[in-house]
Amino acid sequence: MSGRNQISLWTMARQRLDEVAQLMHLDPRIHEVLRNCKRVMEVSIPVKMDDGSIKVFIGWRVHHNLARGPAKGGVRYSPTLTLDEVKGLAMLMTWKCAVVDLPYGGAKGGVICNPTELSDGELERLTRRYTSELILLLGPEKDIPAPDMGTDERVMAWMMDTYSMNVGYSVPGVVTGKPVNIGGSRGRREAPGRSVAICVEEAASRLGIRLEGAKVAIQGFGKVGGVVALLLHAIGCKIVAVSDIKGGIYNPNGLDPVKLTAHKRQHKTVSTYRDGDFITNDELLELPCDILVPAAVEGVITNENAEKVRAKLIVEAANGPITMEADSILRDKGVFIVPDILANAGGVIVSYFEWVQDIQQFFWTEQEVNDRLRQVIRRAFGEVWSILRDRGIDMRTAAYILAVSRVAEAIRMRGIYP
Ligand code: NAD
Repeated sequence: MSGRNQISLWTMARQRLDEVAQLMHLDPRIHEVLRNCKRVMEVSIPVKMDDGSIKVFIGWRVHHNLARGPAKGGVRYSPTLTLDEVKGLAMLMTWKCAVVDLPYGGAKGGVICNPTELSDGELERLTRRYTSELILLLGPEKDIPAPDMGTDERVMAWMMDTYSMNVGYSVPGVVTGKPVNIGGSRGRREAPGRSVAICVEEAASRLGIRLEGAKVAIQGFGKVGGVVALLLHAIGCKIVAVSDIKGGIYNPNGLDPVKLTAHKRQHKTVSTYRDGDFITNDELLELPCDILVPAAVEGVITNENAEKVRAKLIVEAANGPITMEADSILRDKGVFIVPDILANAGGVIVSYFEWVQDIQQFFWTEQEVNDRLRQVIRRAFGEVWSILRDRGIDMRTAAYILAVSRVAEAIRMRGIYP
């Protein structure tokens, strides 16, 4: 299920595709291809636990569509993971790669487990066995996983090493989001937050929102939200609220993200920060502010609270933070939404840069990475904006039309085999 929303991410992803297909008069034969995943692999993963027992975990790797290139998508470790969630996220990856014009198809994977309850050794054995079970699918020309919720650089290093041990030589390009000294890219960690911040700038300049002093509320102060706060603060925005799973903090005069980052490092939460008032995550979404950045989990803005949102601009840093009903309520209210598939695409864009650098064995400076990321996001934003203006539609629908038309065109040109 997607957060508090009752329908699964897969159902939601399909409904969004169906709506867009109708609007763009998509060839029904291609629509049918896109409504389905190309392949789903389910694996059982026996792991020797530290106490001597053996526990079997269930995992998946899903390829949604590979018409535009090899499979790309994260690996999620979560106790509540379902196949529908993985399939929905795989479809989302197809659109995300297409909207920013990367030569990839959409994929996603994951294992039902709670990584915080596993020892380092158990997590490593689980990751290595999961990778071995997927070995037929993986490879730099076939399927290139990356981190997602519950996985990180360390897990990617184990995946890369396991694949390399199986083939007999080092293959850094088989995963992205690796540590820099084994073939990771500079700037990868900050990339999703950086693309969100660039989208805030692009949207604000077109909507006439002055960023100097603009009030910003950010839900989720993690890898993405924390970077968004630092970058927007650096360009003059006032960060009035931030939160994490334990709750948030509000100060209408502005918070200092550098101090918040230090506080979080020391206390593992921002909710106990002194320089502001404690608020709940629900209250954060309804605060008086110019820009709202949901950067935590999916399904947080629903038909129950959408009416109370007061921001003029929402930039989706998290995947799927707004339910479909909430989306239309916000649209009717005139709230401008930059969708997740564009806003947080910085992660997969710099993953693409990492893969290119690994294949060429030629590494870029952080400035080169950041400059190229800005170029890609600005170009994609401009292309989506033109569709929005020409058709008089919202940004999410425009982004989907661009993405779906690119994938549909690739299928049409390649033809259906045999
Ligand atoms: P993270 O785990 O680093 O941070 C998540 C933050 O959200 C933390 O502050 C956590 O405490 C908070 N949180 C968790 N559950 C919450 C809840 N129920 N209510 C309020 N806050 C809650 O994760 P991240 O990498 O920053 O990812 C955040 C979102 O961005 C996810 O939707 C993820 O899919 C998306 N995303 C991440 C990347 C990436 O490369 N990290 C790329 C694209 C999209």
